[in-house]
Amino acid sequence: MTNIKQYDVIILGAGPAGATATIAFQKSGLKIAVLEKELFPRDKICGDAVSSVVKRILRQIDSNLEEQLAQFEEKVYIEKAKLYSPNFQSLEIAFSKKGHCIKREVFDNWLFEIAKQNKDADIFQQVKVTHVNTTPEYAEAVLSDGTIFRAKVLIGCDGAHSIAAKQLANFKVDKLHYSGAVRQYYKNIKGLEGNALEVYFLNGYLPGYFWIFPLKNNEANVGFGMLSDTISKQKIDLKKSMYDIINRIPEVAERFINAEPMEEVKGFGLPLGSKKYSISGNRFMLCGDAASLIDPFSGEGIETAMESGKFAAEQVLKCINANDFSDSILTSYDERVYKKMWNNFHNHYLLQKVLGNKVWLINLLIRFGNIPWVKRKIPKVFY
Ligand SMILES: Cc1cc2nc3c(=O)[nH]c(=O)nc-3n(C[C@H](O)[C@H](O)[C@H](O)COP(=O)(O)OP(=O)(O)OC[C@H]3O[C@@H](n4cnc5c(N)ncnc54)[C@H](O)[C@@H]3O)c2cc1C
Repeated sequence: MTNIKQYDVIILGAGPAGATATIAFQKSGLKIAVLEKELFPRDKICGDAVSSVVKRILRQIDSNLEEQLAQFEEKVYIEKAKLYSPNFQSLEIAFSKKGHCIKREVFDNWLFEIAKQNKDADIFQQVKVTHVNTTPEYAEAVLSDGTIFRAKVLIGCDGAHSIAAKQLANFKVDKLHYSGAVRQYYKNIKGLEGNALEVYFLNGYLPGYFWIFPLKNNEANVGFGMLSDTISKQKIDLKKSMYDIINRIPEVAERFINAEPMEEVKGFGLPLGSKKYSISGNRFMLCGDAASLIDPFSGEGIETAMESGKFAAEQVLKCINANDFSDSILTSYDERVYKKMWNNFHNHYLLQKVLGNKVWLINLLIRFGNIPWVKRKIPKVFY
């Protein structure tokens, strides 16, 4: 007979969304199964910019966690963004609160280690979930070896290629609301400021941007991303584009003269928050990339993954109290997520649309943005 493992909650995936949900369940006494296909520390292709909002989310869960992040030495502090127009004028935007850059392999492992302190959570690594299912009585996840996990509710935190999103919420990739991006770690890039995110809007590579984000030890995360619809229609090869940007655009190439790549170029998808989905249903919720919650302009998804993971854990506690895990009670999770995030997503989507590939407009805006009274009013874009 098949061995069925019984829990209160199944968390699928232990990235920022899943780890944060596990941490938020810390004092709940609920029996949690965290199912993760990789072995931590594991890499995640990303720009590695961890926004200042993450501190607030950690503080709201446990005031000690913000201090623990402050003590964590693997990060660099980010104080500003430098935006470059196609004609290479720059605009510096100082952040009111410091953000961070930390390699995801390191940051996610830091969060994962905190999640492991939840003594009521059984964390299973190197287990791949191949099937998820819900009935009125339970939610279940089936591993590739046939093992079945059953619980009152399942939280899908399994990233951009989420099985939970496909099998429970019937998500399909919508290329108008999805981006592709590539990343390559470098060391010794010339003129790297240790505290600035550099973002380049480049002629011939719009709509999209090239980035150089600083890391510890004079290393940097270098990348290039574009909307998937443009990538498909114009048959763009992101890896080749990144090579061309670094080697053929003189202003960029000059920075890379003595730079050394530390890995091959790697790519991954970004499900954007510019389209609303139904992110819960009978006995399940989706968080982070699984729920398509990446900022459509900046490409940031770590803070929204963590916030949605926290919201999902808090929603489970309400469901336990009401002994109700139906789709009707769980819609309050959708409402809370979109109440918090939708305005930002929508405004940044409009910005993405308006700028598009209009070289003249980006040149003009960056010039205009340097006028002091305008600069003071520039709204939060990256942080
Ligand atoms: C190139 C690129 C650059 C980016 N830059 C930034 C940036 O600078 N700042 C920022 O904030 N965001 C950035 N993002 C977005 C950010 O990486 C994601 O939004 C974030 O990782 C979402 O966290 P998550 O926990 O939802 O998913 P993930 O971090 O993807 O975690 C999902 C976890 O689920 C596990 N999993 C998946 N499927 C299964 C399965 N079937 N069974 C078991 N486990 C499974 C995975 O192994 C993984 O550990 C970038 C994304 C890309 C692609």
